[in-house]
Amino acid sequence: KAEVEMSHVAEKTTSHLWNAMHRYNPDAQDMMAVSGEGSWFVDADGKKYLDGVSGLWCLNLGYGRQEIADAAAEQMRKLTYFPLTMNHPPAVELAGKISQLLGGDYQTFFSNSGSEANETAFKIVRQYHNQTGNQGKYKFISRYRAYHGSTLGALSATAQANRRVKYDPGAPGFLHVYPPYSYRSIFGGDPEESDLKAAQMLEEMINWEGEETVAAFIMEPFISGGGVIIPFPKYIQRVAEICKKHNVLLIMDEVVSGYGRTGKMFGFMHAEGVQPDIVTMAKGLTSGYLPLGATAVKSEIYDVFKQTGKDNHFRHVSTYGGHPAACAVALKNIEIIEKENIVERVHELGKAKLGKLHALMDHENVGEVRQVGFLLGLEMVTDKQSKVPLDEAKMGEIVGKCKEKGLIIGKNGDTVPGQNNVLIIAPPLTSTEADLNFVVETVESVIRSI
Ligand code: PMP
Repeated sequence: KAEVEMSHVAEKTTSHLWNAMHRYNPDAQDMMAVSGEGSWFVDADGKKYLDGVSGLWCLNLGYGRQEIADAAAEQMRKLTYFPLTMNHPPAVELAGKISQLLGGDYQTFFSNSGSEANETAFKIVRQYHNQTGNQGKYKFISRYRAYHGSTLGALSATAQANRRVKYDPGAPGFLHVYPPYSYRSIFGGDPEESDLKAAQMLEEMINWEGEETVAAFIMEPFISGGGVIIPFPKYIQRVAEICKKHNVLLIMDEVVSGYGRTGKMFGFMHAEGVQPDIVTMAKGLTSGYLPLGATAVKSEIYDVFKQTGKDNHFRHVSTYGGHPAACAVALKNIEIIEKENIVERVHELGKAKLGKLHALMDHENVGEVRQVGFLLGLEMVTDKQSKVPLDEAKMGEIVGKCKEKGLIIGKNGDTVPGQNNVLIIAPPLTSTEADLNFVVETVESVIRSI
């Protein structure tokens, strides 16, 4: 009976649901997931798939954790909803926990998504500069290939051509520099030198624009959606120094890299000594169990908003931001991450298991294997010499064959046709060793078969 109901739902949904359509491979929109456990989900036909991209890199703890579902249900019964124009215990506790995890003194503003967390950051930054005598500082700098969200401000910071051009013009005041993409460096030098030159380009732009006009730099520690671009830690450190020197706030987008994905609690922690002014997060914050975005701001920035007697407060509100159930889920999620040593696990198994994919470097079509923890990108090319991106049809074939074998992987890069040539592998952080072996064996056998 359940199956009959399911196929009925499938029919109805595909005829009226406007889904994002382009995920994974050309026929992915036909897939209907109905249940999941661990790293696996089951579709409406009863076929099992290992989710090698953790939903949209959000299901850090995988599907079906009873404790998390219970935490949500319990909170919904206790206090269904309360706005964060005032307080409720799960939000207060979670904000304290986030500050502790970030290793500094941070105040957190809650929202519902990664896009919203970044929008919130932009508004905080502009108001902060306004209230500290730097009214002219309004520009934001991000990097080509970055993805920071779908709403117009976050989209303006996003720099993947096809995501933007149809919606131009973007918001004024958003500028872009070249990322630390040493595989296709425009700077030359060895990879580390190339990364440092990419950092220098940020300083050049700040000087060119005039530091009195530049408000903040937003970056992911490791560009995820733009093809898994992994800089040397020195790049992040150099960027942080440049920002500090020019009173340009550093916004670290940890929407994908936060909560263990890279083998540290947060991605920026790979770069010793770096403490971002603002950290934005979503996805892994709740492992995708409920929507929640967070913008954590250093307390010295927050202090500018709390002086009384002036209209200094932040004129910004989100009805559902920091929903009690979402905060309760986040707290349970973090408790499990800590209790089960997920961060160490990712660090170790990332190397010992997923790291085996580096062996594919002997294949002519594998230009580069980039990895940090459970975040991998395999840059596919027609041959190692020319580095011409592997064509869309072949990319689709690889992703499609993996899917046939029961493994979902992704592909991205830039959205310009022909540059979507990076295979994405980012399984749940709780994947068993057998799961990880399955990922490696499947990807390896499919690539070697093309
Ligand atoms: N920042 C990054 C780095 C992301 O990958 C995403 C989502 N893919 C976002 C922000 C936006 O998050 P959301 O889809 O929750 O708005």
